[in-house]
Amino acid sequence: MILVFLGPPGAGKGTQCKALVDRYHWCHLSSGDILRRERKEGTELGRQAQSYMDSGKLVPDDLIVSMMMKELTKAADKGFILDGFPRTQGQAEELDKALRKQNKGINIVLNLEVDDTRLEQRVTGRRTCPGCGTAYHIIFNPPRQDNVCDKDGQPLVQRPDDTAEVVRNRIQAYHQQTAPLISYYGKQNLVQNIDGNAAIDDVTESMFRILDGFTA
Ligand SMILES: [Zn+2]
Repeated sequence: MILVFLGPPGAGKGTQCKALVDRYHWCHLSSGDILRRERKEGTELGRQAQSYMDSGKLVPDDLIVSMMMKELTKAADKGFILDGFPRTQGQAEELDKALRKQNKGINIVLNLEVDDTRLEQRVTGRRTCPGCGTAYHIIFNPPRQDNVCDKDGQPLVQRPDDTAEVVRNRIQAYHQQTAPLISYYGKQNLVQNIDGNAAIDDVTESMFRILDGFTA
């Protein structure tokens, strides 16, 4: 089972990935994590990636795909969730080619859809306590007293990149990047849209309904 998980920033993809791992015991592969690990371990692929990054260049698609393929073949009998990868149609095509050589392929693409206004609301409402790190949301999880931590009474702060403008730019970049991927996988009839506007548990349930049928 190889699942590609798509979802905009702030859609709660991390939480949903965790729910999938807990239920199906698949490996969660995030390209960011793998890139970091390969560099830290100083592998050949990691060193190559590092040299691109040192010169301020993007790590090329084939290198990223090689790293992911290494993980996908390490535990060949396991299921995998690909998170943050492929990021472009180029990567998706390279990945398909590499998988085909091993008589494999992507089995399903989950596309978590959340309205832009809701994403914006979720992100811009986040507040944290600088003292104890407790996280709040002004609408969904407010402190008892406005803008004050329940635990230690400190004034809450907002992360500088949680503003509406930054969020809008990130969402727009996501749509631009992902639209070609959705149509690429759509042509292969692999895409399942999930309504991510619902409550977290309901979103999880609707994913389970699709995937239980798929893995049965
Ligand atoms: Zn606090």
